[in-house]
Amino acid sequence: MIFMILSSFLLMGQKNGNFQMHFINVGQGDAALLISPGGETVLFDEGVVAHCDVPVEYLDLLGITSIDYMVTSHYHQDHIGCTKQILEKFPLKKIAYDRGEMYPSDPFDLYQAAVGTKRQKAVPGQRFTLDPGSGHEVVITFLALNGAGIETDNENDLSLVSLVKFGDLEIMMGGDLSGFNASNYKDIESKLAGNAPRVEVYKVHHHCSQYSSNTTWLNAIRPRIGIINVVGEYGKGYGLPAEDCMERLHKAGIKTYWTNIGDGADPDPMWDIVGGNIVVAAAPGSHKFTVSFNGSNVHTYPDWGYNDTSVIQTDATYGWSRNSEIYHYLNCSFIKKIKLQNLETGSKPPDGKTLHPDCPK
Ligand SMILES: [Zn+2]
Ligand SMILES: [Zn+2]
Repeated sequence: MIFMILSSFLLMGQKNGNFQMHFINVGQGDAALLISPGGETVLFDEGVVAHCDVPVEYLDLLGITSIDYMVTSHYHQDHIGCTKQILEKFPLKKIAYDRGEMYPSDPFDLYQAAVGTKRQKAVPGQRFTLDPGSGHEVVITFLALNGAGIETDNENDLSLVSLVKFGDLEIMMGGDLSGFNASNYKDIESKLAGNAPRVEVYKVHHHCSQYSSNTTWLNAIRPRIGIINVVGEYGKGYGLPAEDCMERLHKAGIKTYWTNIGDGADPDPMWDIVGGNIVVAAAPGSHKFTVSFNGSNVHTYPDWGYNDTSVIQTDATYGWSRNSEIYHYLNCSFIKKIKLQNLETGSKPPDGKTLHPDCPK
């Protein structure tokens, strides 16, 4: 009897009628648990080898008893490292999506054994829906994987890219992708930028390494906030987040939340918050989302398209809808009629569009 009361209480903690995404402070590596308003769960990456007590205890505290779906970005040990420990305690009920290949490492062998026959290769454009028919569905779409057509054998650049959509809230989850052709990295971000939607939340690629998050990519997705998983007290990192990556995020006007202090750039108090476990949440139909950090602090942001004009870059002269063939000077009254999620701006006229004939200079 006591057990039954306890378990139903915990279950209430897990599912609360709102969308929740828990970015767990696992160190330099990723693990994020999505809980739909109706209580379905998706685990995006599975923590860091040798620090598995952290995600297991966090999921336990949430009152999770099983996991419906897993979406694994790539096979590095800081992204698949705790699959065995997590699934032993919280069995996987449905599908483990990943990039569908093999990788020569012990953590990969353990991962493969743990997901077993539930493993499925993601397909670009494929989507799956949580709470179907509820009127407040969560839709996860796979945008790209395995280099998005660019030849590479760099495991980071093969990352599976997922877009999470709940009403107007969109979250970009792209693992450890790169945005520069340097060292043995390839610029995958610029390739994806052309078709990328504007998002509210960006899980910053590759823990904000110097080769991630290029300006083309940031201007395309225009996140309101970035989430960065860094090493903190969990052993040695790699000098992340990198100074130049942070500079690009700040220049693009993106506030960031870090799961811990890193061992690279210092947080800039104007822009960056070291917040432990970071929880992004939204109520159905609300047009805004909250970010909870350090246990009890909460920030609220409007979704794009609602009561905000800060997206217009100050150095831009022109603006246009991504769906229109004409462009305008920024002070043209037509600019205000463009939905903010379609608005693009620049200091040069866009290719292939013509100037609005009556546009005031
Ligand atoms: Zn990583
Ligand atoms: Zn990686």
